[in-house]
Amino acid sequence: MYYKDDGSIDYKDLANELANMLHGYPYGEPPETLGMIADELRTDPGGRHGHAMLVAAYASRWYAKWQITDVSVFDDLIEAATRAGEFYGTAVCPAPGEHEHPKIDAADPEGAAEIMVLIGDPEGSAADSFRDAEHLDLDAMNCPGYLRELAAETVRDLTQARRERFEVPPADAELDERYLTEDGRTDLDALLSDIERQKYSSIDPAAEKAAVWASRRLLGDARPEERAPLALAVAHLAQHCYWGSAAPSVAALYNEALRTFDLAALDRPCPHTDGHSVQIRDTPRHARALAFPPEDADDNGERCPRRVAAYVQEMIDYTAQYMSRS
Ligand SMILES: [Zn+2]
Ligand SMILES: [Zn+2]
Repeated sequence: MYYKDDGSIDYKDLANELANMLHGYPYGEPPETLGMIADELRTDPGGRHGHAMLVAAYASRWYAKWQITDVSVFDDLIEAATRAGEFYGTAVCPAPGEHEHPKIDAADPEGAAEIMVLIGDPEGSAADSFRDAEHLDLDAMNCPGYLRELAAETVRDLTQARRERFEVPPADAELDERYLTEDGRTDLDALLSDIERQKYSSIDPAAEKAAVWASRRLLGDARPEERAPLALAVAHLAQHCYWGSAAPSVAALYNEALRTFDLAALDRPCPHTDGHSVQIRDTPRHARALAFPPEDADDNGERCPRRVAAYVQEMIDYTAQYMSRS
C-alpha cells in the first residue's frame, strides 16, 4: 500500500487513504499510514516528497490527537516535523501578498489530499484531475515560508496534543479533602454527586476528575465496602472513550483500576431468584444503591454482585480498546 513497484510513493492510494482517514473512515491502519508519512518526511525533509508528507502530517494532526492511542506515532510525527522545521530554518515567503498559500482546512480532507498530491507528484496521474484547476499555484504551494509555518504548527499542535492525551492527570490534594471523611473513608455521597454530573456524550471535567480520583482510590486504599460503588463510578466515565472522549492515558488508568476489582462473582450463582430485570443503565443510581443499600430486599437484583462484576468486566474490555500504548 502507498508504494509503487519501483518503490516510489503511490500518491493515488495515499491521497485516497488520507481523505478516508480524515473523514473518520480509514480503510487501512492509521498508525501505519501516519508512520509511513513520518518516515518519508524524516528521510527527505527538503525534497518534493518530504514537502508533500509535511502537508499530510499537518492535515492529520487533529485526527491523530483524537484517534491515535499509540504514543510512538506522535513521537515519530513530531520528530519528523521538527527535522523539516530545521531544514527550512528561518525561510520566509519570497512573495508576500503576491501569492496565496493554500489553506489546509480540517473540514476538507479531499482538499488536503489534493495539495499533497500536487506538491509531491505534480506530473503524475494522481494530479490529473487537479492540474487544470484555476486556483492552482504551485509556487505558493512550495513556498519555503509556507512550508516552514506548516512544520512549526505541526510540531506545536502535536506536542500539545501529546501532553493533553498521554500524560496522566496529577493527583489532586483538594479532591482528597473533598472525597475523604475525617476517618479516612470515601465520602461516597460527595463523590457520586460529582460523578452524576456526567450526563451526555461530552465529558464533564468535574466528573472526570472524580472518576480519576476513584481510580486511584481503587488502586490504593479503597476499603472493601467502597470497592463496588467506586468501580461503578469509574465505569460511568469509562463509557465515554469513543471518538477520543477520554484521553488514552485516562482510559488506561480506568482500565488499570477496574482490573483490581474482584470478578469472582461472575462464577457464582445470583443471590436472588428473579433474574436481572434491570440493566445497568443508570450507573450512578446503581452505585448509590450499593453505597447506601435500602432496607428492602433486592428482589430484582439491582445490587447483585454478579451484575456489577459483569459490567466491570465489560468496561475493562471496552477501555482496553482506547487506552494508550507505547
Ligand atoms: Zn509564500
Ligand atoms: Zn444477579
